[in-house]
Amino acid sequence: MAVASAPANDAKANEFLSTTRKLLINGEWVDAASGKTFGVLNPATGEEIARVAEGAEEDINRAVIAARQAFESGPWKDMLPNARMKMIMKLAQLISDNAQTFSELETLDNGKALSISSAVDIPLAIDIFEYMAGWATKLEGRTLRLSSPGYHAYTLLEPVGVIGQIIPWNFPLLMAAWKLAPALATGNTVILKPAEQTPLTALLLGEMIQEAGFPAGVVNVVPGFGETAGAALSGHMDVDKVAFTGSTEVGKLITQAATGNLKKVSLELGGKAPNIVFADADLEAATAGAGLGIFFNQGQVCCAGSRLYVEKSAYDTVVGGLTDVAANITLAPGMDPACDMGPLVSEEQYEKVTSMVAGGLSDGASAAVGGGRKEGAGYFYKPTILEGTNPNMEVIREEIFGPVVAAIPFEDPNDIVKAANDTPFGLSAGIWSRDVSKAHKMAEAMRAGTVWVNCYNVFDSSLPFGGYKQSGWGREMGADVLELYTETKAVCIHVG
Ligand code: ADP
Repeated sequence: MAVASAPANDAKANEFLSTTRKLLINGEWVDAASGKTFGVLNPATGEEIARVAEGAEEDINRAVIAARQAFESGPWKDMLPNARMKMIMKLAQLISDNAQTFSELETLDNGKALSISSAVDIPLAIDIFEYMAGWATKLEGRTLRLSSPGYHAYTLLEPVGVIGQIIPWNFPLLMAAWKLAPALATGNTVILKPAEQTPLTALLLGEMIQEAGFPAGVVNVVPGFGETAGAALSGHMDVDKVAFTGSTEVGKLITQAATGNLKKVSLELGGKAPNIVFADADLEAATAGAGLGIFFNQGQVCCAGSRLYVEKSAYDTVVGGLTDVAANITLAPGMDPACDMGPLVSEEQYEKVTSMVAGGLSDGASAAVGGGRKEGAGYFYKPTILEGTNPNMEVIREEIFGPVVAAIPFEDPNDIVKAANDTPFGLSAGIWSRDVSKAHKMAEAMRAGTVWVNCYNVFDSSLPFGGYKQSGWGREMGADVLELYTETKAVCIHVG
């Protein structure tokens, strides 16, 4: 397939796309050991926009050796917290200096609107590097009073070691940042494997990491496929921890692969979030929040509010309003200024969403709006509201990962907690009500890692994010993420 010429507006982005991108291993850009490359497609057109070296087991092995060496000896091991903080801040500044290039590459690679890449993905990535840089100088242990006399005891927080990080395609740079920033702030070394659909911004980030002065081997970026590069990384006997964001199905495979050396595992997996609107809510805000909850990023968000429960007396207002929101969304390539919603990321995702919705319709649901793909080039799927579902349908039980919400009326507020929690997932939930007591009680009753009240999809570097139940293990961001990237050492000294 011909490579599309100069698809970006930004000259640096076009230059980046014009040559085959290599792997970053031990501070150098290298070809894959196999010599293989793979194509990166623009989901708005299906055209190839770049070629990337295809990392696999041998490349992962080389990267792990480099990361191990950088962890055990050399400048990174000896670097003082203050210097680490400054280096991470410098990286944040470099991303900021190249924000336009990052934004355009993200849009061309993932499909999302340029207005979203440039207002959400790139600024949040910068912010988490800045936020975590601050933690580098604040990693403190404790002194302990033992119950036996004659001891002085304290704890040290130390890095876990060599970390494998496997990330998804929905927020490519941001997911790299959520993973790298805490790992680096706490002194670990990393092998980052971006998703095969969207490796470009992680590779540009690799260039910035070089420019910021991180020592060789501290961050290695090895794009490749899940079954090869990803499996090699999660099963590697010299990797101390694997951190993963992606599907629950793959999270289970990674956990199994990790048992060989019992490496630590942290997981941020799927969701099927309830977004619950009570009749006493600000219904205009709730309707807008329901739209943001499911249509943001084409619905390719693990915390998407995909089950919209609305108290019966407010149902027509909210679902009618949301139908208007959906009908007015302009589907267009992300680079088009008119774009409200871009294409889904890949043909595979397009087929998956199409077949799940078709399944829901044949199971007896109906579409108030949407319900199918937009014909023509690119993987565009219409914003969709399903009604008439029942709790056993696949569209209610499984994550669709597309712009598809099921609207469900409820009569008795006492029943809603049970319905909302009736899912194997537990990543997030939304509550809309003007009644403060009800909102607090509902927030407590939700079996989910994040509860948004009178808002949705609010992310902040200081807010921990992660899942209950099959939505994951551990929390990213905030102070909580430090636990994922540090070991606690207890030192006990007999002083007599
Ligand atoms: P999706 O199904 O939405 O594409 P995945 O969970 O498959 O999401 O992918 C998320 C990340 O996991 C990607 O980087 C992918 O390459 C990686 N991956 C997929 N399969 C495996 C596997 N068996 N082992 C390790 N990583 C994998």
